[in-house]
Amino acid sequence: MKSITKQKPIEEIQNLLQGMDKVFVVGCGTCTTLTKTGGVEQVEAMKEGLQEMGKRVTGGTVIPTACDDMTEETMKENEQYIRNADCVLSMSCALGVHQLTLYLDKPVIPAVDTLFIGVEESPGYFHEVCSQCGQCILGETAGICPITACHKGLVNGPCGGTNNGKCEVDKEKDCAWTLIYNRLKEQGRLDLMRRYQPPRNHHVTLKPGIIKIG
Ligand code: SF4
Ligand code: SF4
Repeated sequence: MKSITKQKPIEEIQNLLQGMDKVFVVGCGTCTTLTKTGGVEQVEAMKEGLQEMGKRVTGGTVIPTACDDMTEETMKENEQYIRNADCVLSMSCALGVHQLTLYLDKPVIPAVDTLFIGVEESPGYFHEVCSQCGQCILGETAGICPITACHKGLVNGPCGGTNNGKCEVDKEKDCAWTLIYNRLKEQGRLDLMRRYQPPRNHHVTLKPGIIKIG
């Protein structure tokens, strides 16, 4: 499982950096390296892009795992370069941005958008399988999540726009409810298609999510 990100458009980054001329760039050696949005190469390219924008780059680094406690160490090692910067531009996922913010008194600006937690199905192809809704119905949908896989997030059957097994919103994509139907049929559990899913209980996903184990 990885945090899947995509780089923000350069114009948006430029807007976010308004009034901040000196920038320190941080990447992450784990998720954004895997997705090629914040590894060594992308950090170097970003540094060049910033210079072309007229910014002064005080330095840059790729933290092994931006969302863990080692981040504090790496920030200390780079203190002199960060001190000279107006802000830190983070090419890690939102968890990394959050972690960096804990250790820095400078603004931390995200350069990437965090899209979802996903699995890598084949090299470079990431797939969202769960939206972490807090009330899992996979047991009744043959292991395929309609909240995540259906464009409309429908939990009580298809929308009616399904065409030859494809989704009406994205014709390239299989309709989640056709997949669910076919798999339930294979399992001899088609009766589950008639089971009503009540409206979601939003109390199970209080924000921010906090849980104490034990
Ligand atoms: S129903 Fe879907 S979004 Fe909710 S927990 Fe299960 S897999 Fe995740
Ligand atoms: S066609 Fe299928 S996947 Fe697409 S929105 Fe309708 S039910 Fe969901």
